[in-house]
Amino acid sequence: MIDPHGRAVTYLRVSVTDRCDFRCTYCMAENMTFLPKPEILSLEELDRLCSAFIDKGVKKLRLTGGEPLVRRDIMTLIHSLGRHLKTGALEELTLTTNGSQLSRFADDLVTAGVRRINVSLDTLNADKFRAVTRRGDFQKVMDGLMAAKRAGLKIKINMVALQGFNDDEFDAMIAFCGEHGFDLTFIETMPLGEIEGYRVEQYLSLTQVRDDLEKRWTFSASSHASGGPARYVDVAETGARVGFITPMSHNFCESCNRVRVTCTGTLFMCLGQDDAVDLLEPLRASETDVPLIAAIDAAIATKPKGHDFVIDRLNRPAVSRHMSVTGG
Ligand code: SAM
Repeated sequence: MIDPHGRAVTYLRVSVTDRCDFRCTYCMAENMTFLPKPEILSLEELDRLCSAFIDKGVKKLRLTGGEPLVRRDIMTLIHSLGRHLKTGALEELTLTTNGSQLSRFADDLVTAGVRRINVSLDTLNADKFRAVTRRGDFQKVMDGLMAAKRAGLKIKINMVALQGFNDDEFDAMIAFCGEHGFDLTFIETMPLGEIEGYRVEQYLSLTQVRDDLEKRWTFSASSHASGGPARYVDVAETGARVGFITPMSHNFCESCNRVRVTCTGTLFMCLGQDDAVDLLEPLRASETDVPLIAAIDAAIATKPKGHDFVIDRLNRPAVSRHMSVTGG
């Protein structure tokens, strides 16, 4: 799949549910209305959809949400998708999770063929964790992380940099990740969906953060590329890697290789644009994948060049949907 800007689309992110057991303040509103269950693609439909994309050349598949591991019977889908790893059609099957269910699922994920996962963790302070997630249990996430480590999963921590919230914890997180052999990625907050409060008050430029970190840590440019938007450095003091995802201060659209599908079968060609194509109708229209493939081809031909995020006092989201809808 080659888009109009000459970029090969080889990476699919699928939001398997819009539900989450957390309500992170920068991600969701306190009172979210979640989709009625009948509107959500079944696990069999999600499998068909993912498999069609793999047939079309997707090499990396990430399950996300909402929280992917709170979807009922999600392991059935993950095991089933693992067949594409065995044939070599798919190079990587992975997921982004808040870690709350990892104690239960870590071993099974490895059995299904998952080798690496991203775990979101914005603070190492249990009280602050409860505050930012509005309901999360820090110890449960720590237990989940350690279970994933024991199971042999390679872990990358995602930390959204939030002014006045965790800007005093970046050193501690680098040290924690170094100690456990986790990679770490810092992420700039993006204006996705309405939230309580002003994003301009939360936003921190990672260019600034990086300059400050370099006063205490020795960074050298890393040759590592995850196929994603992060720019990595190796940290001499810990031997671990740290990445910076800077959608605001330096966008990375020129190398975008991905598209995203929601749990209702809507295909978004860009996280920060409204362009979308419905895949549910063509999926259900036929037992063959002919209409589905035609819809995917038509969609890829309209992939936008990039997003144009702005965070200012007007506090307008770039798009009305939350990250939990499109899938981070
Ligand atoms: N529940 C899973 C998790 O917590 O990782 C997967 C979904 S969550 C929406 C995916 C990632 O998006 C998380 O790392 C979260 O911190 C990040 N995220 C959510 N809203 C964001 C925003 N407005 N700007 C930047 N990152 C955001």
